[in-house]
Amino acid sequence: MAGKKQQEFVKEITPMEEDFSRWYTDVVLRTDMVDYAPVRGCMVIKPYGYGVWEGIQRVTDSRLKATGHKNAYFPLLIPESYLKKEAKHFEGFAPEVLWVTHGGNEELTERLFIRPTSETIVCDMYSKWVQSYRDLPLLINQWCNVVRWEKTTRPFLRTAEFLWQEGHTVHAEEEEAQEETMKILEIYRQVAEDELAIPVILGEKSEREKFAGALKTYAMEAMMHDGKALQAGTSHNLGQHFSRMFDIKYLDRDGVLKYAWSTSWGISTRLIGGIIMVHGDNRGLVVPPRIAPIQVVIIPIAFHKEGVLDKAKEIKEGLEKSFRVEMDDRDTYSPGWKFNEWEMKGVPIRMEIGPRDIENNQVTIVRRDTLEKFTASMDNLTGTISGLLDDIHDTMFNKALKNREEKTYTTTDYEEFKRIMHETPGFVKTMWCGSGECEDKLKEETGATIRCIPFEQEHIGDKCLICGGKAETMVYVAKAY
Ligand SMILES: [Zn+2]
Repeated sequence: MAGKKQQEFVKEITPMEEDFSRWYTDVVLRTDMVDYAPVRGCMVIKPYGYGVWEGIQRVTDSRLKATGHKNAYFPLLIPESYLKKEAKHFEGFAPEVLWVTHGGNEELTERLFIRPTSETIVCDMYSKWVQSYRDLPLLINQWCNVVRWEKTTRPFLRTAEFLWQEGHTVHAEEEEAQEETMKILEIYRQVAEDELAIPVILGEKSEREKFAGALKTYAMEAMMHDGKALQAGTSHNLGQHFSRMFDIKYLDRDGVLKYAWSTSWGISTRLIGGIIMVHGDNRGLVVPPRIAPIQVVIIPIAFHKEGVLDKAKEIKEGLEKSFRVEMDDRDTYSPGWKFNEWEMKGVPIRMEIGPRDIENNQVTIVRRDTLEKFTASMDNLTGTISGLLDDIHDTMFNKALKNREEKTYTTTDYEEFKRIMHETPGFVKTMWCGSGECEDKLKEETGATIRCIPFEQEHIGDKCLICGGKAETMVYVAKAY
């Protein structure tokens, strides 16, 4: 019975080997994470998808607060003149800005734009708040939505409106701003690797790929199951660009008025797309246990029989003290249907409790990551589950790392590189001369980009992949989402 049902369910998700993009869309829709909104490119994040976002928020916010950052909120609407203050920033964002031109029937005297990011308004406020060295450092983060009018969109990965956190800090010294930029990148690494079980490569972005208006952009890049890269978080050292344009000055100890140094950084709901594409399989989602909205789902079996439901409730109450637990005691669905449903939703642990389990003082456990099924004693279930969740996290991380390693290649031969991109897409470790023309050519001819200049440099060769000229910089190249 369960076998037949299972097949029907799996049919609703296109196998990833057949069409990865269809598989992705099937998974996000079928698991109730999102729905399409009436405005093209927007998404409705449904409770299960939002629960994953709340998990990411929780593990990020606690780390930001522990390092002295405080949350605030800045307005959604910003005057047009602000965007124009920083030329490069304007150039970078203008093509995707959404404008507000009317209030009711009246045309506004100055157009307003909906934030694609908030540097402009935050820096304007900071110019009022920062007077003296005593006001520094200023370490503020905000959780909010932003709008970027993208032409092609995909749920979580690229949407016109998305949710994120954006941090904006101001410092007295140049080194402090650089330290902050790196500190945040390390926090992002922890979130990705230690919480989401996604291995990342850390490095610096090239001139062409850096944030509009930044001095330096650092990023973490993750490999998706299909070998493509996802920029999973960025941290920018803005130098003095924005403080000069927005006049953020402070009176230093020596009585001299100086321009401050600033940073900005963010991670977004894109990460949810990353979770899906790194960990998911043909059965659906596999949600990393530390941020999973539901870590354990309890399914009572034959619960019309006396004592089963009571025992299941008792176990649930015990586990709820330490974990996020849900019990599915709907009598309108069969156990087989429920197994499939929760498997598809990627809940890390499924626990079945039936009359025979109770007789034997045990529960039946199924891990979502490996689909292993086994029994565990009802005594010390908290310890069992805790250990199991850690093991699931490690297993998921190692599996993702293995996939990345298998799909990482090394070459400085352009023809071989093209063949790799065409036949077995992945990350290519190679050398680059540093020129923007080579970057443009690479993108034009292969669709791939320099993902980052990794901190961990390796000597691969002496010649640039693209022009064959002298090259001293090792880079990761890949096609990206
Ligand atoms: Zn070159």
